[in-house]
Amino acid sequence: MQTLTSYVQGRWHTGTGASVALHNPTTEAQLATASSGGIDFKGVLEHARSKGGPALRALTFAQRGELLDKLSKAIHAHRDELIELSIQNAGTPRSDAKFDIDGAIGTLAFYGRLGAELGARTFLYDGPGVQLGRTARFWGEHVLVPRLGAAVHINAFNFPAWNMMEKVACALLAGTPVIEKPGTPTALVAWRIAELTIASGALPEGAFQFIAGSVGDLLEHLTSQDCLAFTGSSGTAAKLRGHTNLVRHNVRVNFEADSLNAAVFAPDLEAGSDAFNLFVANVALDMTQKTGQKCTAVRRVFVPKERVDELTAEIVAAANAVKLGDPSDAAVRMGPLASADQFRDVRAGIERLAKHAKLATGGAASIREKGYFVAPTVFVASDARNAAFHAEEVFGPCATILPYSGDAREAAELVGLGGGSLVTSVYSNDTAFLEAAALGIGPWSGRVWLGSDKMAEQSLAPGMVLPQMIHGGPGRAGGGEELGGLRGLSFYLQRVALQGFKGVIAPESFVASKAAAPSA
Ligand code: NAP
Repeated sequence: MQTLTSYVQGRWHTGTGASVALHNPTTEAQLATASSGGIDFKGVLEHARSKGGPALRALTFAQRGELLDKLSKAIHAHRDELIELSIQNAGTPRSDAKFDIDGAIGTLAFYGRLGAELGARTFLYDGPGVQLGRTARFWGEHVLVPRLGAAVHINAFNFPAWNMMEKVACALLAGTPVIEKPGTPTALVAWRIAELTIASGALPEGAFQFIAGSVGDLLEHLTSQDCLAFTGSSGTAAKLRGHTNLVRHNVRVNFEADSLNAAVFAPDLEAGSDAFNLFVANVALDMTQKTGQKCTAVRRVFVPKERVDELTAEIVAAANAVKLGDPSDAAVRMGPLASADQFRDVRAGIERLAKHAKLATGGAASIREKGYFVAPTVFVASDARNAAFHAEEVFGPCATILPYSGDAREAAELVGLGGGSLVTSVYSNDTAFLEAAALGIGPWSGRVWLGSDKMAEQSLAPGMVLPQMIHGGPGRAGGGEELGGLRGLSFYLQRVALQGFKGVIAPESFVASKAAAPSA
């Protein structure tokens, strides 16, 4: 049995008092315990602010990029071990484990390269300068400078590696020390990555701290230069949003929460076309990859009403072709849900949806004697406007097919009933349809993914979050934004308007020795 320790104030700490148990969701056997009892959380923050922050801020972007590159390599060197831990603790087949772990390695490497490109500077210019006076002598610039606090990162259980390291990459490159708290049910992978991070010796002391278990009273001690980035359910996000201390100090926050992501199938697509096949494959992939426990997974599938039967049959066949079972079996593509709580919540969610829609395949029944297994579940609804389909995220292998007229504007309106999503995919070869859908859906979705025959062969699935592109979404999706290349650094930096003599503040003057800075 493993005891997950925390790395705080320069040493590994074994928690005292009550602990939380971590299980293997395939066998239900207990694997580890986690407890953060006895941690001086105020001291953790002070350690980050007094040691990690100054050490990181003394480095240039290029030097911080080198640290990220070293971390990426240190994790890559233990990739097989991490994949094995993920199979055991998260119930992920090898392909899903790789999705998480390679995502962490790749995002660190991406931000490492970005650091190298930014070179020897320590702050960024933000957009072009503006003339404020009668002549260019009185000038304005916006710059982004590192803030002086610490970043607290509270992460979800479903991507223990990627979710932690995508946040770490942006924060460390910006010069901000981090305090990482993974979702406890699958924390074994995050904990091992924390061990590798510390053992790599890549980071200055205080730049990275790790908490296994609860964050205790940590949030009580955050002040105005600190920030909190949260990924998880909208219920927890709502609680944290109202946290008295965060409100009192106006602590900068970023929330990534639930999302009822949608796929829209346009009427022009013919059966067997590349975009048609891509739609079916992507919906089935989203439902079954990580057993549907993906924040970007599709939950609502809008199809023209006269094609509901045809597309339901295709999606059901594709989802049922995915081999389900023990994730340690190399042939298996979908494992169990990650925890007993997930098993309970997903089955209850499926039962609630069953009151409003016809079951096409799957259902709430447990399908194995041991382990937290449910089958891929497809519902077909007759009324796409029924609030039941737009209100609750069933965080498992479950999606509902909803009929619409085939009009792009109506599709956009229906997508909006979800109150804000991370990603919406639209499939069509009709440019006018794609354009109307993209612009109509844009206000409701952080990312709009446009599938057509022309890009089918090269495309990466809509559920895949790329470091080059922003991740986040409005409304129920949390209203936050992460990644997106340099954009991901802004959360950790302070945007300052500089006004003065152009000869002092313009990039060619102010940082003459450090080359003209690109915009963030
Ligand atoms: P969760 O139950 O809300 O937990 C998220 C994190 O918050 C965990 O680390 C949890 O710790 C912690 N937490 C819970 N209550 C807290 C409190 N009162 N104070 C401080 N921390 C607290 O969500 P989850 O079940 O881990 O994750 C699934 C959800 O995350 C899904 O709804 C999914 O859509 C969403 N998600 C969103 C994104 C995105 O980018 N938008 C990405 C991934 C997942 P413990 O584990 O120790 O309870």
